[in-house]
Amino acid sequence: MKSNKQRRAKIKAHRRARAARADARLRAPDRQRHVCPHLLGAEPADLDVLGRYNNTWGPLPGFYVTRPFTCRDCGSEEVWTAKQQKWWYEVVHGSIESNAVRCLACRRARRASHAASRQGEGANRLGDASARLRVLACAAPTADARAEVAAALESKWWSLRTLAIAALGRWGADEDIARLRALADARCSSWRSWERVGAHAAARALAGRLRSAADEGGAK
Ligand SMILES: [Zn+2]
Repeated sequence: MKSNKQRRAKIKAHRRARAARADARLRAPDRQRHVCPHLLGAEPADLDVLGRYNNTWGPLPGFYVTRPFTCRDCGSEEVWTAKQQKWWYEVVHGSIESNAVRCLACRRARRASHAASRQGEGANRLGDASARLRVLACAAPTADARAEVAAALESKWWSLRTLAIAALGRWGADEDIARLRALADARCSSWRSWERVGAHAAARALAGRLRSAADEGGAK
């Protein structure tokens, strides 16, 4: 008894051979007019749809024929069926100049790796920036550190702005306290505005200052 894998491989080989035969017959110019496209498993093309979505000087196809191709990434011998071509050109409106170049497995792998790299970029940038602000907050502020924290206060990520506010609270120089007071006193335009979130963070940082000042006072 054959396994499913063997059966699939056999079907694929059969399709490939048929596509190669059809391709060869269509490429032979003297025989082309004797070939009925329907006998080759061709799908008629909808020229109305193709014309609407393609701005090309070249001729549009009258029908699609299953075509063999070699995967660009793994070299596997594949076929692009007439039905798949019709779907690609007429349903998702792929450009008439575009062709299948990768097998399904390689397309999936490519898509997954693109998605992963996009996600990784954003997540790592935010994570790195957060860690950096925490480190800056623990040391005495240098001019560079102040510049970084000032930039973080303008960040598009509210979590970074909040960490920058916490750093100002840890530093506690006069200019830091003044900045925190200004943030804490900001008028809130709405409940979900940055002004409100920033004011809370600044008030927390100022309260932390007061507590540590009280502790120092108590220790004396
Ligand atoms: Zn492949």
